[in-house]
Amino acid sequence: MRSVEDFKAQTLEKIGDLRCPDHRQAPRLKFHGSTLRDVTIQMTACCDKLAELANRKIAAPRI
Ligand SMILES: [Zn+2]
Repeated sequence: MRSVEDFKAQTLEKIGDLRCPDHRQAPRLKFHGSTLRDVTIQMTACCDKLAELANRKIAAPRI
């Protein structure tokens, strides 16, 4: 991973086509920061359940 763009692509890839099992909504991700050092992800989810599922996916190590 070399750039913020890579980080974004990787994160979106991890999320994939995740949908809330209850509401069929996809999480929305916003990226802040212009360098890998200060990049943060802001996630909007329909409910806590989806937020947790998405967080788990994002935190999972890349294979
Ligand atoms: Zn939901």
